[in-house]
Amino acid sequence: MLIDIVDQYDSEKKQYLKELRTKIILQLSTQQDHKKIVAFLSKAWIINIEDSEKKVYIGFSNDFMLSNAKKNFNKSLKDAIQTVYNPQYNIEYIVYPPFSTSSDLLIDLWDLLNIKATEKKIPDPIWESLKDKLYNYFGILLDPSFRFDNFIAWSNNQFAFSAAKAVAETPWTAYNPLFIYGNVGLGKTHLMQAIWNEINSNYPDKVIIYLPATKLIDEIILAIQKKNLSSLMRKFDDVDALLIDDIQFLAWKDKTQEIFHNIFNDFHSKKKQIIFSSDRPPRELTEIEPRLKTRFAIWLVADIKAPDYETRIAILQSKLEIKQESIDSELLWIIAQNITSNVRELEWALNFLLTRKAFSWNEITENDVYACLETLGYNPTKPMEWNTNNLNSKSQRNFDTIVEMVANYYSISVAELKSDSRKKEITTARQILMLIAKKHFRRTQQKIWMYFWWKNHATVIYAIWNIEKKLKSDEDIQQDYQIFTERVNQ
Ligand code: ADP
Ligand code: MG
Repeated sequence: MLIDIVDQYDSEKKQYLKELRTKIILQLSTQQDHKKIVAFLSKAWIINIEDSEKKVYIGFSNDFMLSNAKKNFNKSLKDAIQTVYNPQYNIEYIVYPPFSTSSDLLIDLWDLLNIKATEKKIPDPIWESLKDKLYNYFGILLDPSFRFDNFIAWSNNQFAFSAAKAVAETPWTAYNPLFIYGNVGLGKTHLMQAIWNEINSNYPDKVIIYLPATKLIDEIILAIQKKNLSSLMRKFDDVDALLIDDIQFLAWKDKTQEIFHNIFNDFHSKKKQIIFSSDRPPRELTEIEPRLKTRFAIWLVADIKAPDYETRIAILQSKLEIKQESIDSELLWIIAQNITSNVRELEWALNFLLTRKAFSWNEITENDVYACLETLGYNPTKPMEWNTNNLNSKSQRNFDTIVEMVANYYSISVAELKSDSRKKEITTARQILMLIAKKHFRRTQQKIWMYFWWKNHATVIYAIWNIEKKLKSDEDIQQDYQIFTERVNQ
């Protein structure tokens, strides 16, 4: 595993990798813009040199940094490595999160490339009091539980997550401005406040303000009424990074848009960091005046879409872990099958059930889960119903005998049926068995899954969906299925 590898290097090896990095950066700087190098490569390190593969491993703190470095430097970085190290070696890019903190292998690129960096100020008391004043002024309470380390990434939010982290690590550089959008309850506010937290702790001498758009509107209206708009504008002069949440609320307010436009232009021209969230993409902010909207088009836009089924289960499990609680996984499946597009509601459901558990001292049952879903306005399908309806307990055979029968019928062994072989006849037999179990046995999908030693529940859902489809069109399968179900009910 690469993850711990660097820790185990002796100081000589570390020194060697560090010097190599210095040489590569200096070589690169003969051809590339220095500021760009700092923006994209200050969190990139040589992790290892693998002589057997003729590869130099370069690690980045996250995907976003990695893909941007690759996009901007792939060729020149390779040239630099081949010039200063070995003409036969290639690059292997990897994500290496342990490096997101400070590292032995780090050298300050600002120094190295002789760029005048903005001086890192120790926050002086005047700054501190200014910060306090601004917080008091806007009166925003942030939720300390909205952090990166408890934000769960899935395929549909990975880009937004990585972009948010990259901005938080190196604001005022390449990812300015950033626009994050997605439906309600999918973690926009969580990400925005995580960014706030991170920049704030990395750059204590800077003023970072998080404002819900509604709050900004209130402030502007108040300032207009009190005729002290200019003093509100002056507040923004002192702000280094501005996060505005739910920008769509600006849509119907003409005057606020205009003022916001000024703030925006000012930030933009001074290269101060701006981050927005919205429930819709820039092009759909139809009510926002065109000149503001075209501005959004040049931004880095990252969307968040709903998690898939597997991820919803993972979210529920991880929230339980944080609370040091547990709920039967079969019950979690029911929740995840019904609540499909809103992480906040997944959380509500968990809290509802845990509260019920705490008060009744009983284990949570399926009925509790259905009650909870109904309270949330869902109309859950109760999968047990079709099982019990079809259940004919008098003639119920043992499932194992059905498995044997199906195996014999197709001339395959029971072991093959339970294997993960993907041969067509084995797959079909396996899927038919799953359907029989679902329709004719008091077996939940979890048990089917365990029975076949399959890796995950989604596979079972897919298998059943697939065989039901085939049953509609394939006469052979229809016939086979008929034979089996007659036997089941004999
Ligand atoms: P939005 O602002 O998009 O409406 P929030 O950020 O308020 O959504 O998220 C709603 C709830 O769901 C919060 O409690 C948040 O912590 C949780 N949540 C949303 N997305 C995630 C995620 N990816 N990982 C962990 N928790 C999440
Ligand atoms: Mg929100």
